[in-house]
Amino acid sequence: MEERLAKYNFTFKKRYGQNFLTDLNLLRAIVSDAGVDENTTVLEIGAGAGALTRALSEQAKRVVAYEIDQSLRPVLSETLAGCENAEVVFRDFARENFSVLEKELNGEYLVVANLPYYITTPVVMKFVEEGKTCRGLTVMVQEEVARRFCAEAGSPDYGAVTAAIARRGTAEITRSVSRTLFTPRPNVYSAVVRIDFTKGGFAVKSEKAFRETVRCAFLNRRKTLENNLMRAFSLSREEAGELLAVLSVPQGARGETLSPDRLGALSDLLFEKKRTLFV
Ligand code: SAM
Repeated sequence: MEERLAKYNFTFKKRYGQNFLTDLNLLRAIVSDAGVDENTTVLEIGAGAGALTRALSEQAKRVVAYEIDQSLRPVLSETLAGCENAEVVFRDFARENFSVLEKELNGEYLVVANLPYYITTPVVMKFVEEGKTCRGLTVMVQEEVARRFCAEAGSPDYGAVTAAIARRGTAEITRSVSRTLFTPRPNVYSAVVRIDFTKGGFAVKSEKAFRETVRCAFLNRRKTLENNLMRAFSLSREEAGELLAVLSVPQGARGETLSPDRLGALSDLLFEKKRTLFV
């Protein structure tokens, strides 16, 4: 791969988070972690030199890979020679219209990617909040971000992103990946996380109420949930206390002690009480 990159005078661009993978065992392990098979349509974000795209194309029905860096065109056409089921879209994924994209994917799909680290969380949140036909994501991310995605309530890594992901499905770290397997080597440790929208998750009465309840719960981690609720939703202390009493949340509890589904239950109560805030 390095020879191919040199042949086309490719220079790595830090601003695009370009840390490429070449280890075939790792690439195949990621494809296997994702559960890709001959019926799967895969969306990859950041094709790079195409090593993962090629490994995906060997197992999947169809691979659509985005790449922002036009200078990778000749490299990708060489890497993907003969991969008839893979197409590369040379556009900034962050600017794509999501409903148009899902229409073009034409049915259920999985996201599999070694994500550019500078846009990891917004990209994952986009699928969590707007992905209608997405079955899940298997993504390489910084290890600390991976821990945040999968954290237990009350732990230091637990936050708004954890709760948002848990509402849609399950999340687990499938493997830690050594820095030495990337070119160039990043400064941080990485891990592969699988987020599965077909398992777990829970329903809420209003997506908007859930999002705002979660934001409120982590608004100010040093304040009690009661205080954060009063501030975020203009509730009196009595009103906030009554809501928490319905869920048997102890007085003085902080938002981060509530599991994602309890935050969901709280958002349902808030929705019933303050419906006009969430329309
Ligand atoms: N998939 C390749 C691999 O595993 O070797 C490359 C992964 S590299 C971490 C991330 C890739 O995403 C880079 O090739 C980078 O140019 C591309 N990229 C960065 N920002 C992007 C964006 N907004 N839209 C599409 N691709 C992007």
